[in-house]
Amino acid sequence: MSRLPDQTDYSLDFRVSLDGFSPEANDPIRGEGTFERILAGVSNLVAAGLNPVITVTEVYEENGSESGKERFFEILRGLGVTKPRLKILPVFQIGAEAERTGAYESWQRLRESDALDEEWSHLQCSSCRMVTDQGVWVCPILVNEPQGKMGQTLSDTLEPFRLEHPACWTCHVYGVSCRT
Ligand code: SF4
Repeated sequence: MSRLPDQTDYSLDFRVSLDGFSPEANDPIRGEGTFERILAGVSNLVAAGLNPVITVTEVYEENGSESGKERFFEILRGLGVTKPRLKILPVFQIGAEAERTGAYESWQRLRESDALDEEWSHLQCSSCRMVTDQGVWVCPILVNEPQGKMGQTLSDTLEPFRLEHPACWTCHVYGVSCRT
């Protein structure tokens, strides 16, 4: 499996979501029993010679702090990851998170005056799409969001996508980049 990245012309990375340092912190966000399953999955990837990017959202203030990052690094080192890779993301108020802490307010939308033109190349939606067996979505953040679905095939997505979803506001305000 570790040869996979060398066998493609494209970059290949695995990302694993983890939202807390313990089952008590992570499982209410990701689901019952997921903390142990996530760690087991990371161990399997490491055993296969791969180094996944661990994606952490700021559902808890400490997650993105220096001490919080160090705690995640410690967990990963304990699983045999020699060079831990951590990606901190802001919270998007969609899906289960909207039910847990509330959906976006009506004012949380991009406006024409936000003038993204020069600064949107870092957004994942500017250069890729998410292909699933249910269709093609504009980006990984909006998978399963009806407004984010562009069609059934990649050819349906060769057109501009208006950044009208409230999650786009979060990308803009927090400068979210999804390139790793
Ligand atoms: S949420 Fe909006 S701005 Fe962010 S990557 Fe997706 S489409 Fe682009």
